[in-house]
Amino acid sequence: MIETIEHAKHGSYREKLFDPKWKAKRKQILERDGYRCVICNNITDLTVHHKQYHFSTRLNRYRDPWEYDNKYLITLCESCHRRGHSKFDVPTMNI
Ligand SMILES: [Zn+2]
Ligand SMILES: [Zn+2]
Repeated sequence: MIETIEHAKHGSYREKLFDPKWKAKRKQILERDGYRCVICNNITDLTVHHKQYHFSTRLNRYRDPWEYDNKYLITLCESCHRRGHSKFDVPTMNI
């Protein structure tokens, strides 16, 4: 499986996607969505996408990827994911 990482503004995001805490969270989302892309039902090259990014003004940092509520996470295939990111900017919420 390929992880798409164009979330460059998060700096160390890439490393964090190898964190066991993210792997566990990612598995929860994949299981919830039945290991399919929610847009096209593709079952290959799945990636878990964040619908929003949360910036904590108190901590002065972004939330770690696994700290998000499951409702902000969604299973997409590589091509839907890429298409989504080219069309829309992921909104960043200050929390
Ligand atoms: Zn898809
Ligand atoms: Zn994404």
